[in-house]
Amino acid sequence: MADQTKYIFVTGGVVSALGKGIASASIGYLLKKRGLKVCNLKLDPYLNVDPGTMNPFQHGEVFVLDDGSETDLDLGHYERFLDQSLSKDNNVTTGQVYNTIITRERRGDYLGATVQVIPHVTEEIKSRIRRLKKVFDNPDVIISEIGGTVGDIESLPFMEAIRQVSLEEGPENVMYIHVTLVPFISAAGEFKTKPTQHSVRELRAIGIQPNALICRSAKPISDDLRKKISLFCSVPVKNVISAQDVSTIYQIPLKFHEQGLDDIVCQHFGFETDPPELSQWEDMVHRLNNPRRRLKIAMCGKYVNLHDAYKSIIEAFVHAGVHSDAEVELIWISSEDIKHFGARKFLHDADGLLIPGGFGERGVEGKIEAIRYVRENNIPFLGICLGMQCAVIEFARNACGLAEAHSYEFYRDLKHPVIHLMADQEGVTQLGGTMRLGAYPCRLVRGSKSYEAYGTDEVSERHRHRYELNNAYREMLTAKGLLLAGVSPDSRLVEIVEVPDHRWFVSVQFHPELKSRPERPHPLFRDFIKAAVVYNEERNRKEPAEDPASADLARRE
Ligand code: GLN
Repeated sequence: MADQTKYIFVTGGVVSALGKGIASASIGYLLKKRGLKVCNLKLDPYLNVDPGTMNPFQHGEVFVLDDGSETDLDLGHYERFLDQSLSKDNNVTTGQVYNTIITRERRGDYLGATVQVIPHVTEEIKSRIRRLKKVFDNPDVIISEIGGTVGDIESLPFMEAIRQVSLEEGPENVMYIHVTLVPFISAAGEFKTKPTQHSVRELRAIGIQPNALICRSAKPISDDLRKKISLFCSVPVKNVISAQDVSTIYQIPLKFHEQGLDDIVCQHFGFETDPPELSQWEDMVHRLNNPRRRLKIAMCGKYVNLHDAYKSIIEAFVHAGVHSDAEVELIWISSEDIKHFGARKFLHDADGLLIPGGFGERGVEGKIEAIRYVRENNIPFLGICLGMQCAVIEFARNACGLAEAHSYEFYRDLKHPVIHLMADQEGVTQLGGTMRLGAYPCRLVRGSKSYEAYGTDEVSERHRHRYELNNAYREMLTAKGLLLAGVSPDSRLVEIVEVPDHRWFVSVQFHPELKSRPERPHPLFRDFIKAAVVYNEERNRKEPAEDPASADLARRE
């Protein structure tokens, strides 16, 4: 629409984890719904080249894109809210910026010059922001979110770079939106605006005057308070947006729209568009807030207390739940507890089990035990990546009688390495960015549950792994009833296994959660939840006291 791309910069103040990513995604969503071409970017001030080598405790989930880049979890919010697939250019880190500059310096490109933060680092940051104009074929708006909190030492070069953008592009083409916290002090019984004032002052000291403030608070903030913030921070009162806690993140774009945030942005940039058509999204939020049933899905992973490590899975369950009018309650089970107390204690009243991806041996035995329980008791199961590998080990051990079956990831000297290192991973010593990463095609077997879910012969899904089902065991596994429901087009890699005489037992080597969208749940999550609904209803029809899982078990014994 515009000949000039406009720039929105989203910064954060006071504390981290205020939801800048969701705020950026929500603004992007509203502008897209107004017919604008939008592109989101995350600028991460850390020195890692990408988060791929970081521990989930440090960073949360690593979000893998189609092109195989390992990125910040905020890219997940952007993709989900804007229903748009992104690329490596949408996540820039200090590590990447310095990597480029140091390589250039060694090549001699700066010959004679002292290489400095200003101008060299700031120029590189700006060029990476502007690069999106080309990559995304002239978007109307580029929304760049700066990781961290204003005042952090490591984000300073980014702040300086985005300050310069206004100078170069003209203030009418740039908008700074600052996300801040307005805490409620219960002892005093009131909200406090001082932290917001201080963080805006910090921003102004760098030379950035915010055009709008998004004020996070536990409860809605009053007009008087907004006026006060407006006065102290020099931001027009209508541009002081209240962002109170809400029951679902998908409500946030609607809350912003109610307060006219998308109008404010369009007026600032001179965009003349129709108002956004939000009824479908509103309907989705309504269904999400008014579920007709409740399901319990057990989730057995390593980081049970760190939900950010499973962000996309949690969201994929929300999307699939809406589709079945179900609220999905996730029951987080530590795999080590299963080892100690047995699977039944945790799974007898679950409507389904999900085993997510992961690395390392800790907890694997508990996961295998959990899988055995749901396989034998006909409880819906979805295994993802390591979850599929555990399902194969379990099947090899308990259905094929290979008691020593295990994964080569954990033990090198194995009698039955049913999960093996992928051929092209041999000899790989460098850890960063070297897994099998990104989108690969997978051919589905007609008649399988996966085929039923996707409704097509070939799909593309995102991967992040080094190990795979060992082809030497294909015959034995299939002879005992495991279905290789999805393979790579050259048939060399098994991507999906299923147990056909089970109500719904599907395990995949890829990460379906990364492609689920609020208005378009991922087919496998959707059908997993549908199977869980059926199972739940069947159980409810029986005597409430009867526990079908243990009845099944009793029958077997
Ligand atoms: N650790 C396993 C592998 O590398 C699984 C990886 C994952 O779950 N993302 O193959």
